[in-house]
Amino acid sequence: MTEKQTALTVALEQLKIAAEKLELDSGMHALLAHPKRSLIVSVAIKMDNGKTGVFIGCRVQHWDARGPFKGGIRYHPNVTLDEVTALSMWMTWKCAVVDIPYGGAKGGITCNPKELSKGELERLTRRYTSLLYDFIGPHRDVPAPDVYTDAQTMAWIMDTYSQITGYSVPECVTGKPISIGGSEGREQATSLGVVVCAREAAKNSGLKLKGAKVAVQGYGNVGWNAAKIAYDMGCKIVAVSDSMGGISSARGLNPYKVYEHKSKTGSVVNFKGCEHVTNEDVLETECDILIPAALENQITKTNADKIKTKIVSEGANGPTTPEADKVLYQRGITLIPDILANSGGVTTSYFEWVQNLTREHWPVEEVNRKLEAKMVKAFNDVYKLAKKEKCEMRTAALMLGVGRVAEAIKTLGLWP
Ligand code: NAD
Repeated sequence: MTEKQTALTVALEQLKIAAEKLELDSGMHALLAHPKRSLIVSVAIKMDNGKTGVFIGCRVQHWDARGPFKGGIRYHPNVTLDEVTALSMWMTWKCAVVDIPYGGAKGGITCNPKELSKGELERLTRRYTSLLYDFIGPHRDVPAPDVYTDAQTMAWIMDTYSQITGYSVPECVTGKPISIGGSEGREQATSLGVVVCAREAAKNSGLKLKGAKVAVQGYGNVGWNAAKIAYDMGCKIVAVSDSMGGISSARGLNPYKVYEHKSKTGSVVNFKGCEHVTNEDVLETECDILIPAALENQITKTNADKIKTKIVSEGANGPTTPEADKVLYQRGITLIPDILANSGGVTTSYFEWVQNLTREHWPVEEVNRKLEAKMVKAFNDVYKLAKKEKCEMRTAALMLGVGRVAEAIKTLGLWP
């Protein structure tokens, strides 16, 4: 495999490995390799300058044998049907690994949200929702935020869906603001899952969490919250980075103060009393736990042999290439794959949906306790399977996810 693979070729290659290990028949393999439904829509809106803007959007619904489709919506210039298809497939496996009753989906609009006004973004979101109306909904497909969409985007989706339906339907979307039915704990959920997985891996390898050295790449929602949670658990944060560069300190950084600095200046760089390093340096920092929480393709065959950590817990989607996976495994580094490590976000989205359907609002302690229980169970399921199969945790997680979905499809049967 080369380093230049697209998300879809990686996703299909991963499926092939899992299908072979699980000895799935060729029909089931082909069925899982193609999404059940892919919709392409032309989203036409009135621009602020009075002209008509036309944007191409899509929604890919991969498989829903275990429950309604679930997955984020991204607004980005590079959104393609292939990329969204790969992401929808990963959502299917992720929901199955953490054992929540959803299938996988993903959506996107090819646009540059940085060039659109708030009004244009609202019109884009509402028009897109109206075009998808017949295919989404609380029991069909439940969208959530992804790259460059947020709680406000979800509020517009909920309102548009509710206006067309004729009554309020908060359960049609997750990741909403708390004032309209969002869940407590959603903002930190992905990071809590990432750190809980790292904690379980540390336990298994006899590594003490107190004083364990942690390096975090990316200081956005996932990275900063992961640094904060790890720090509060007693870890020492030795390096962090964002798109502008990195900082490190052998004595340890206070992530709250770094966050304050980033909020004021826009970056972690120039934080006082630490060393200024590059992004590459942060990934190669000597540490016990490395949390890539920025972009895909960060640990590659070029730097895999320079990574000096015991555990990698993937906050980002796809930060490690398949070639790097092999190198890390051969070097005895425990890698907790994205479809397990960052599944805390969709799990708390599931809790939000359950709260909306039952018209309840749980306290944050209850949400986090339930999340932790789900994450620990999923981690142990994958860890035990990896030991039994003598394979990487990524292959074990794929086997678990793909196996559960294949089993559900087999049990339901094909109709007609
Ligand atoms: P975000 O936009 O809040 O943060 C991204 C961070 O990465 C920013 O600090 C940015 O400066 C930094 N960054 C960008 N390029 C970088 C580079 N070259 N080197 C170092 N840092 C760089 O995004 P987020 O919500 O924190 O998501 C991060 C990753 O986690 C993405 O891959 C996303 O798909 C994944 N993820 C997020 C969630 C969630 O709940 N937010 C859930 C699952 C997976």
